[in-house]
Amino acid sequence: MNRKIAQCPIPLYSLKNGEHEFHFNLSSSIFTDNHYDDIHKAELDATVSFNKNSAIMVFHFAIEGKVTVTCDRCGDDFDMPLNITRQLIVKTGSSASQEEDDMVSLTAADYELDAAPYIYQYVALWLPMQRIHPVDDKGKSMCNAAVLEKLNSMHKEKSHDEQYIMDSSRGYRI
Ligand SMILES: [Zn+2]
Repeated sequence: MNRKIAQCPIPLYSLKNGEHEFHFNLSSSIFTDNHYDDIHKAELDATVSFNKNSAIMVFHFAIEGKVTVTCDRCGDDFDMPLNITRQLIVKTGSSASQEEDDMVSLTAADYELDAAPYIYQYVALWLPMQRIHPVDDKGKSMCNAAVLEKLNSMHKEKSHDEQYIMDSSRGYRI
């Protein structure tokens, strides 16, 4: 199988010392290529900036854009805007490539850093466990109204049944 994995290469070792900024446009493929099914569509702009001045650098990630996810309440897709900033410590000239929390060590053989896995990870971690349509400017839920109405009536029926069972188990009805 020939899978295409999105790449955002930063040729760290060939860059001159000083400030650097890299821009990447990422689409859905960063998630779909990795079989991350929670995000159906993505339009992301990522900026990675850092100062190459020593063997230990701080990379600043700024990720903006939107992802399309399924609403947990009504089942329709909707766009979630996102704006994420994160920092990653990058150490060069290490004896072994290594990854820890918020830190990566590169050897001289790792002539570039691929920012894509970090962007992927930052967005995946940012995504809330529960995703529900936001409310509009009048405070009204933007969920699919027809689906909600159906769910509401099903819920009412269910709670009526439950009430009946509870009452029966006590041996009398109110
Ligand atoms: Zn919804």
